[in-house]
Amino acid sequence: NKFKEGLSKTRNQFTSKVNDLVAKYRKVDEDFFEELEEILLQADVGFETVTELMDSLRFEVQRKNIKNTSGIQSVISEKLVEIYKAGEDDIAELQLEESGLSVILFVGVNGVGKTTTIGKLAHRLKEEGKNVMLAAGDTFRAGAIDQLQVWGDRVGVEVIKQSEGSDPAAVMYDAVRAAKSRNVDVLICDTAGRLQNKVNLMNELEKIHRVISREIPDAPHEVLLALDATTGQNALVQAQTFKEVTNVTGIVLTKLDGTAKGGIVLAIRNKLHIPVKFVGLGEKMDDLQPFDAEKYVYGLFA
Ligand code: GDP
Repeated sequence: NKFKEGLSKTRNQFTSKVNDLVAKYRKVDEDFFEELEEILLQADVGFETVTELMDSLRFEVQRKNIKNTSGIQSVISEKLVEIYKAGEDDIAELQLEESGLSVILFVGVNGVGKTTTIGKLAHRLKEEGKNVMLAAGDTFRAGAIDQLQVWGDRVGVEVIKQSEGSDPAAVMYDAVRAAKSRNVDVLICDTAGRLQNKVNLMNELEKIHRVISREIPDAPHEVLLALDATTGQNALVQAQTFKEVTNVTGIVLTKLDGTAKGGIVLAIRNKLHIPVKFVGLGEKMDDLQPFDAEKYVYGLFA
């Protein structure tokens, strides 16, 4: 239900437009396809993904000899899910250790909702009975450490931190040590999101990786990239850049509740081949939901 509520903007615009189109055309013809293409582009599905989708829709319509538009929504949904999955293993679930310490590294530029997402994820994991700890690795942005502490207090998990300007790798070292000694299950690490200087960012993340994996060989278990859904195709560009800088294992798409352009989920997956693991559907503690392509797409038309 949270999922449905959070997607109401996308649903209201995208779905009602498709429904209007179906009512308007009745027959599946080239004009219908063209207008549908336009609607998908407006929802930020992205040009290449839309083209691919339209090809497979046309093919399906021909194959099944579909003449009129009634019920075409279910064919569209089917194809949307197919495009999302596109022959890739769908690992929406976090890949964490069954027992022992797992480390999740968070990356993303400022303002996308990284800190909020870390707080929400900490809450989620805690609800699952896990012992969670946070590491304030964004020592660069003024206020970032305090903001993480606020979330730590809110959720009731410990935050390992140093002063602003200190070496993030040193914070991580402290945090991993503390996590190990306190039997923490999941350590979630914030990092600075300075995309302006790619080389610096790459070096910083590499150093963090080195420090963490020296203590725990398989860590970090996940590198999650937070992207703001309301920034549309910009989010795609950011994802591309982060992918060049570090080994991103999953995406958290934030603020999906704030946009009618939810199609960006498909664009990201189809272009970058990185699974969307969670979506942010609001500002509150329990507004983080695991991403499920079927639920998402069928939810749009439900
Ligand atoms: P950071 O700079 O990346 O750490 O971003 P913050 O976590 O400070 O978030 C920036 C703003 O976005 C804050 O006002 C958050 O409350 C808001 N925000 C974060 N995630 C979501 C979301 O999923 N939905 C909505 N509506 N707002 C969000």
